[in-house]
Amino acid sequence: MIQPVQPQTPLPQLLAPQAAQALHKAFGHTTAKDLLDHFPREHLPHNALSSFAGLREGELASFVAKVERVSSRRLQTRRGQVVDVAVADQTGQEMTMGFFGGFQATRQLRTGTLAMFHGKVRLFQNRPTLTNPKYEVLGRQEDGPADSSQLAGPELEQDKIIAVYPASAMLTSGQIRDCVRTVLDQTDLSLWPDAVPPQIAQAEQLPSLAEAYRMMHRPDTMDEPEAAWYRFRMEEALLLQGLMERRRRLAGQLPGIAAPQQAGGRLEALDAQLPFQLTEGQRECGQLLAAELERETPMNRLLQGEVGSGKTLVALRAMLQVIDAGAQAALVAPTEVLALQHERSLRRMLGALADDSVRMTLLTGSMSAAERKQALLDIASGRTDLVIGTHAVLGEKVHFAQLGLTVIDEQHRFGVAQRNALRQRSRPAPHMLVMSATPIPRSVAMTLFGDLELTVLRGLPGGRSPIKTVVVPELRKSWRERVWEKIAEEAEAGRQVYVVCPKISALERTKAQIQSQLAERFGFEDGQDSVRIPAPAAEGEVIYVDFSRKEAVEHITNDASVERIEQKFAEHPQLRRLRCGSLHGQMPAEAAREVMQGFESGEIRVLIATTVIEVGVDVPNATLMVVLDADAFGVSTLHQLRGRIGRGSTQDNLCLLVTRMPEGHPSLQRLNEVAKHTDGLRLAELDLARRREGNVLGAEQSGGASVLRRLRIVTDAEIIAAAGEHIGELTRRDPEWATAPMLWRAVEQWRLEHDEAEKYIHQG
Ligand code: ADP
Ligand code: MG
Repeated sequence: MIQPVQPQTPLPQLLAPQAAQALHKAFGHTTAKDLLDHFPREHLPHNALSSFAGLREGELASFVAKVERVSSRRLQTRRGQVVDVAVADQTGQEMTMGFFGGFQATRQLRTGTLAMFHGKVRLFQNRPTLTNPKYEVLGRQEDGPADSSQLAGPELEQDKIIAVYPASAMLTSGQIRDCVRTVLDQTDLSLWPDAVPPQIAQAEQLPSLAEAYRMMHRPDTMDEPEAAWYRFRMEEALLLQGLMERRRRLAGQLPGIAAPQQAGGRLEALDAQLPFQLTEGQRECGQLLAAELERETPMNRLLQGEVGSGKTLVALRAMLQVIDAGAQAALVAPTEVLALQHERSLRRMLGALADDSVRMTLLTGSMSAAERKQALLDIASGRTDLVIGTHAVLGEKVHFAQLGLTVIDEQHRFGVAQRNALRQRSRPAPHMLVMSATPIPRSVAMTLFGDLELTVLRGLPGGRSPIKTVVVPELRKSWRERVWEKIAEEAEAGRQVYVVCPKISALERTKAQIQSQLAERFGFEDGQDSVRIPAPAAEGEVIYVDFSRKEAVEHITNDASVERIEQKFAEHPQLRRLRCGSLHGQMPAEAAREVMQGFESGEIRVLIATTVIEVGVDVPNATLMVVLDADAFGVSTLHQLRGRIGRGSTQDNLCLLVTRMPEGHPSLQRLNEVAKHTDGLRLAELDLARRREGNVLGAEQSGGASVLRRLRIVTDAEIIAAAGEHIGELTRRDPEWATAPMLWRAVEQWRLEHDEAEKYIHQG
């Protein structure tokens, strides 16, 4: 008897050997499920494959055509450029399509490229054309008329709707389509396990798994693929929420340490000596945390608050409550510099309490063997109450006498699995407080921090002064010079300045790298000696800059690095007179400490630094921040950096985002957003909407999300929320999920695989 096709059935049993091999090589597909999960990128109505002759004004058309020529022209009336792509159809008739901006198009569409175009037909000078059409590159064809058989197999004629697959150089969309059909024809999908519990499928009116695959690959109507997508996304959302539910449950089952508040303890002593009132937000969060620490169930909480909102004090108060109850607390920072800064700011807040009644130990990677040994001894023997350090603190070798609370500052470098591992390590399990200054949209928070409850710390102590943010294109020479003058003026007026660089040392580039950047950034072609490119300018203004090849090379290689900027300060007639210091993550701890102290005391006027100053540094006299090569940073980093100024009483705070990018470069949009918006959450949402998920949820921080394939954290926020409710209801009604065995199995499998994988990543 022939075995029915299973999800794990190897493709070579179902397809011709070359096809199976190509699928493996191009996409790594090995099983039937791999292939069926290769979803079409798009579905196009079939009337598509016609010659240009049949195109009607106003209709949505799709057709395959061959690129004949590509050229670009500058817009006179507006900023930017238009890329004109001339294509030919089967009969050799030509059409010219315009791509505004055209950054992608110039790279992907070259003479001889065969592509499917899709868009609304317009008539221009009585000939049909598309503007900014969608397109998919199908392959390259050197000569002859465009050949639509590249797209689809012979059966295509019967289909009303064409599924367009993500293709590769090895496999065209049409070939993938043929493979999918071959597998579908041999498979009884109703036998495949369906993780979506029937009661949820019914409530959501989801198609069955079998139906969904058919609707995706062979839809009868244009609505079917959408229904199928919804079903597959819901399935992932259910897995995700199911996973978080399991993790919360497991974390909640661990025995913890009850730390009741003590009258006359160190927390009271701190409160009594604080030189200021707690903000409303700090008081509220404080009460919440205090109540949770009193319970025996370990607290698992994410504390989110803008830069400067006073999270450190909230954490310190929680740590003192635990210390008062006889346990130890640990504060973990992502870098050594930050650990040092924390130590200093905790000491400042504790004042006379430090060391005397709150015994502190620093634990970082750069300590000598002897110091380290002593520190480990103090921690293990209980001679120390509060440990501050980098994640060395969480290492296997560090044994606490009784760890009651772990505070992790700036969460983004820890993943869910790492937190899980921490919880498992000591018994009773410590309470856990994770602090983040990055505002995160709810759907992302649920994904990255689904194991934690969220608290938002609102308000800023003493209010903050406004910060004006301006994007400075280096291509505008006068603006560029003005930046350096401004630094000198500010410093000479007695204020202080941060100059932030993305790197410590300049990057070495190969000839080929320079060459490709010349082409990409400036549009240099082989043998071309000079170019004229548009510089970013105010709306409605066009400013061109002429570049010789030599100047362009200089511009490209002129990276803003700490070393290069130090050099610049040493040579510049005005800047030379200013007292500067440098700070970056690779300095010896002692040197970093000295520089920080110098800047805090005001002796150092200008701090040239990498993003180590992103968090933790607090100098109210600093009023100007210059971020060089600002395009190298993400939105949230820029926003956090900017939060380092505007802490004093002056209303004149300025943040300059300096960039070498030309007009039209995508990163300018990001910089303009940061300049325009001051609300962190709004920025985070804009940022998320623009980025691909993969970047949002990097492997390290994904906490399960790296397995997500179809769920779009931003656009699917509602599905994720709905799935959360379904899981919540399922769990209430049926705590052991007996009515959803397939879901249970899928979640468990995912959890085990994922946590293993993540542990592995973190152990490096
Ligand atoms: P963040 O939330 O960015 O970690 P910090 O904890 O570093 O913020 O606090 C920023 C500054 O505000 C610190 O200098 C801190 O001492 C001060 N601060 C904290 N709470 C208050 C308060 N209630 N009133 C006045 N200043 C405060
Ligand atoms: Mg902080």
